[in-house]
Amino acid sequence: MAQITLPPVAKSFFTACKKCGADRYHTVLTHTSSTSAKIQCEVCKSNKTYTLPKAGSMAKKAVPGTKTKTGRVRKTSHADDFQALQTNRGTEKGIPFSIKTKFEVNQKIDHPTFGSGYVKTAQLDRIDVMFEGEVKTLMHNKV
Ligand SMILES: [Zn+2]
Repeated sequence: MAQITLPPVAKSFFTACKKCGADRYHTVLTHTSSTSAKIQCEVCKSNKTYTLPKAGSMAKKAVPGTKTKTGRVRKTSHADDFQALQTNRGTEKGIPFSIKTKFEVNQKIDHPTFGSGYVKTAQLDRIDVMFEGEVKTLMHNKV
């Protein structure tokens, strides 16, 4: 993708002038930031601020969720992730959930309220468990 940059100071470029109601040559007076400049219409001499179109904003939005650490394309749908686990491990018997039990990553849980879940992350006293509807943080390992 070509990087769009401001025209240099003292150069002219063609852009719309609202006062003239037409495209006019404008002289760049000064750069006010890396993406905006003060410009002057060569016909009506009106000053205005010219801002570059935000070409970077769309590219930035595409960054999250492109690839995981493992390099595979990240799934964005929770339902897909859960379904994949169910397909692989649906017949596996879950460990009945109890706050006193110490769970580990990847264990399957059978929760009385939320149903089957899979431990995504485990800390000393809490676990993130992927249930069908959402990921829930639960306490565990409580004596
Ligand atoms: Zn003008």
